[in-house]
Amino acid sequence: MDIQQNVLLAPYTTVKIGGPADFFIHTKNSEELIAAIKYGQDNNLPITILGNGSNVLISDSGIRGLVIKNDSEEIELLPDNKVKVSSGTQLSSLINFTLDHNLLGLEEFAYIPSTVGGAIIGDIHGVNKNHFSKFVDSVEKYNDFIISTVLKLIPGNSTSAKAEVSEIIQKKSQVQLMNSLGSVFKNPEGHDPAGMIIDQQLNLRGYSIGDAQINPKHGNFIINNGHATAKDYLALISLIQSKTQEILGFQFELEIKLLGKF
Ligand SMILES: Cc1cc2nc3c(=O)[nH]c(=O)nc-3n(C[C@H](O)[C@H](O)[C@H](O)COP(=O)(O)OP(=O)(O)OC[C@H]3O[C@@H](n4cnc5c(N)ncnc54)[C@H](O)[C@@H]3O)c2cc1C
Repeated sequence: MDIQQNVLLAPYTTVKIGGPADFFIHTKNSEELIAAIKYGQDNNLPITILGNGSNVLISDSGIRGLVIKNDSEEIELLPDNKVKVSSGTQLSSLINFTLDHNLLGLEEFAYIPSTVGGAIIGDIHGVNKNHFSKFVDSVEKYNDFIISTVLKLIPGNSTSAKAEVSEIIQKKSQVQLMNSLGSVFKNPEGHDPAGMIIDQQLNLRGYSIGDAQINPKHGNFIINNGHATAKDYLALISLIQSKTQEILGFQFELEIKLLGKF
């Protein structure tokens, strides 16, 4: 096992923000993932698993303890329209695999830059408003950490589903930029979507603090134009929060997770 120290985490996130991990292990399959978790436990280190870092704002001071970057590509076809997949597998690979085997359902999650573990933890929602948990048959955990899952899918002809995937990717890539963390805030119940409020009611479209900017094409995405820090990113979040409170009298709830000390 290659245990590294003081590894900068920014490159392991989509938004390219985040300070160092005290200890860092990059795992390439489920066995390595379990071994890395055991190492952390045996050495009394707090453990954080990172998938693609596409939903986490990591502090500029980084994360104490052990960070495991979970990478793998293990997908197995099972009987009864089921697949077993390791938690570090890229969602895009899983979608391609299942469609190649005429198993449908996951196409609405196209373009989401997630690992399977991240998709289960966040219970991601797709363009048709279904959640990932709809397809989850069982989850294999080691302590609280997700190692693999079995999904139950829908048999069918994948020709139109493949076209749908291409269309979703084409459409989303126009507005949802990858140098972000996806939607920063949950859509508030009983109100317009958060992005629309930020654009049209708070008039913050394109507003920047340092290199962190409210995406001019989608108000609920905050992008990194180069050298944004977690401090910049959080300052924009706080600004949006205080303006929403002042103008609309409520607070948005965060969709992203904050990791490390803020
Ligand atoms: C351009 C863009 C578009 C997006 N579109 C959507 C969308 O349409 N719908 C949507 O729901 N989300 C969307 N997101 C948000 C994000 O991609 C999802 O939340 C995704 O599921 C996060 O997966 P990840 O592998 O990057 O997890 P990470 O961000 O690495 O981790 C997220 C959390 O899960 C924990 N975790 C990760 N793996 C494990 C594991 N194996 N065991 C235990 N804990 C684990 C981490 O510690 C962390 O707390 C988008 C993001 C971007 C950048």
